[in-house]
Amino acid sequence: MAVSCSKCSGDAVVYLPYGNENLCKKHFVDSFEKRVRRTAREFRMIGKGDRVGVAVSGGKDSVSMLYLLKDICDSMRVELVALSVDEGIEGYREGTLKVAKENCRKLGVEHRILSFKREIGITVDEIAKKKDRMRTCSYCGVFRRWILNKTAREMGLTKLAVGHNLDDAAQTVLMNFLRNEPFRLARFGPSGGIIEHEFFVDRIKPLIRIPERESAVYSIIRGMNIKFGRCPYAHEAFRNEVRVFLNEVEEGFPGTKFRVFNSFMSVRDVLREKFSSNETPIKCKECGELSSNEVCMRCKMLRDLRGEKGKCL
Ligand SMILES: [Zn+2]
Ligand SMILES: [Zn+2]
Repeated sequence: MAVSCSKCSGDAVVYLPYGNENLCKKHFVDSFEKRVRRTAREFRMIGKGDRVGVAVSGGKDSVSMLYLLKDICDSMRVELVALSVDEGIEGYREGTLKVAKENCRKLGVEHRILSFKREIGITVDEIAKKKDRMRTCSYCGVFRRWILNKTAREMGLTKLAVGHNLDDAAQTVLMNFLRNEPFRLARFGPSGGIIEHEFFVDRIKPLIRIPERESAVYSIIRGMNIKFGRCPYAHEAFRNEVRVFLNEVEEGFPGTKFRVFNSFMSVRDVLREKFSSNETPIKCKECGELSSNEVCMRCKMLRDLRGEKGKCL
């Protein structure tokens, strides 16, 4: 027999263990959207006069965020543009880019695709073939952030929304504790960061209180046609370990991920105060983007990749 919704007589499609609630399609969608709106308001993510960029990879989180931001921005008469990054990962990225494109078209949101090849000069597949290097994900993350920030600024965007969910956030918090890197944690959060500079476009994370599983359910209910796959290079061992651990604890003690995130939020101001730096970021002498050193991470990584046994890119 079907379980009924805790709020109406309809059939439940999802159970939320941390609230001990069964919800039907309608009540789940309502609850999901209400929570994202509340988070956006609480951290003043979007205001009048903003021009918002949304980073859409084509996965469940970023496309769900696109739908929500489209509604929020429309109701506030704020401009919204979608940005996707093509890292050059054969057999994986084509599919997700297609999903991003189709959903942007469906919602009538302007969509731009930026490529590693064009902006950086090398694709992730090419990086993966190089020897004596760091993990592929390290380059990918740095290069992607560099492209997104530069493009957003050049387009005159004032906010850049990224689809980090509660699982990502709880993992990040725990990883920073386990690695004893509180100074990194001080820079983490739902919006903004420690770097406040006209050259740095503010990042916002409207899904930061949404469990990963729920953005998947939401994307299915709203017919986003998501392909649930993982990047072939995604095997950051430490994060994986922490993910498995957190999922196990959550299973036995529902609400754990929320509590990890909330603990962090309650000490965030103290962390920021303690680890805020008085140094003003400088512009990288190679690319002109913001950096804490003479040469930024993106340019340093590119140098290393080029320098490999005297070969050029
Ligand atoms: Zn219901
Ligand atoms: Zn640079």
